[in-house]
Amino acid sequence: MSVALMKVNFFWFRRDLRLNDNTGLTQALADGLPVIPLFIFDENITSRLPLDDVRITFIYRQLKTINLELDIYKSSILLKKGTPDAIWHSLLAEYDINKVFANTDYEPYSIKRDRSIQSLLQQHASKLVLFNDHLIAAPGEVLKKDNKPYTVFTPFKNQWLLQMPELLTYVGNQALSTNNFHKFNNPLPSLNTLGFQESHLRVEPYKTENIAGYANARDNPEPDGTTRLGPHLRYGTVSIREIVETAKQTDPVFLNELIWREFFMHILSHFPHVEHESFQKKYNTMAWRNHQDEFALWCRGETGYPIVDAGMKQLNKTGYMHNRIRMITAGFLCKDLLIDWRWGETYFAEKLLDYELSSNNGNWQWASGTGCDAAPYFRVFNPATQQKRFDPQHLYIKKWIPDYSPSRYIKPIVDHKIARERAIATYKNHLLNL
Ligand code: FAD
Repeated sequence: MSVALMKVNFFWFRRDLRLNDNTGLTQALADGLPVIPLFIFDENITSRLPLDDVRITFIYRQLKTINLELDIYKSSILLKKGTPDAIWHSLLAEYDINKVFANTDYEPYSIKRDRSIQSLLQQHASKLVLFNDHLIAAPGEVLKKDNKPYTVFTPFKNQWLLQMPELLTYVGNQALSTNNFHKFNNPLPSLNTLGFQESHLRVEPYKTENIAGYANARDNPEPDGTTRLGPHLRYGTVSIREIVETAKQTDPVFLNELIWREFFMHILSHFPHVEHESFQKKYNTMAWRNHQDEFALWCRGETGYPIVDAGMKQLNKTGYMHNRIRMITAGFLCKDLLIDWRWGETYFAEKLLDYELSSNNGNWQWASGTGCDAAPYFRVFNPATQQKRFDPQHLYIKKWIPDYSPSRYIKPIVDHKIARERAIATYKNHLLNL
């Protein structure tokens, strides 16, 4: 005789690591059955990362916080490590799962993963129910009049702003009061037991107090006047709706940046080829120089251009680089060194704590001129001019290259004037010979 399994719903945390204003969780708690909160360290992803990857440590610490918060509801997080397919197979043998609630992750890998879990659940008369939580507007919700996706930022932004009031539904923590969490006490396994190691790096807390002065301060790399929301929005430790609620009352320039984040996610979703190729396919056959030694110097921050080098050192040391400096270092790699943007994109993906496929890809393609609404190929940043404008007193440079002295600095690996002409000629010839 078979034993009746407990009938439950699951809430599957992914890039929404919080209890407050969590759309899918709110829906799960309102559905009636006891809800088991679950997180899976997905081995398809973690096996490609170092054991002490700071993003794993960050996720783990956040799960610990959530577990403490769940204590009030006499509940816990079920924490698993493995491939999602294998984990769901074993959970289906353990529980009678009515529904699995989750928030949509719009990246190509996640869409594929969710399709596979959906079909597995269906074989057991269960289902995966997905909600939009990561963005204000889900891909497909902001479209042109002909129902096609926007590929230019400004009209996208205008339409997004028009629709924002109806899309912005902040629910806060109303649903938590229903306390439909499954009651169980499950102490989290330690990071080491899970097979990981604590990182020596830390994700800094975000600074919403910087939103007020953002428009004036955002372009200065030192002191850095931005909000450091990147990793928090990436992993959903804060709700985007909560941030937009503040931004819409405070600073349109800041709101604009949040809309770029949505724009690039829509682009990735509507044009998934950008993950591996140029948005403008005509650039797929570009004759990049791809000089290995120059790439290594760029990665280490030894190009002889202090603003570029300081940026790469900041990235290598902290996992963060200020946006203005990201634009300068990316432009330098693609234009001055004529190295394939995908090399730089991969390097940033490895290092950035706020790494987000859509934003990283969109911005790299913007810098290389291969993307949608990208900088035209003949616009080449001059690192010396940029430095004079944004770091005139060398505050940023000296922070990351403490012994910096203009007269004794290492020799530039390329002469910018010559490199600029070479870049323009290479792009131009490429387009002429298509
Ligand atoms: P703030 O300036 O305080 O902005 C607040 C939030 O707005 C950011 O956290 C981010 O979510 C969003 N945002 C701001 N600028 C942009 C932008 N240009 N594009 C998309 N979203 C934006 N951002 C990422 O989140 N992940 C990445 O992997 C990433 N890679 C980048 C690669 C390059 C080459 C460049 C030029 C930019 C990249 N950006 C990326 C965008 C931007 O540099 C970072 O979002 C920002 O520096 C993060 O710091 P912050 O949170 O203090 O930003």
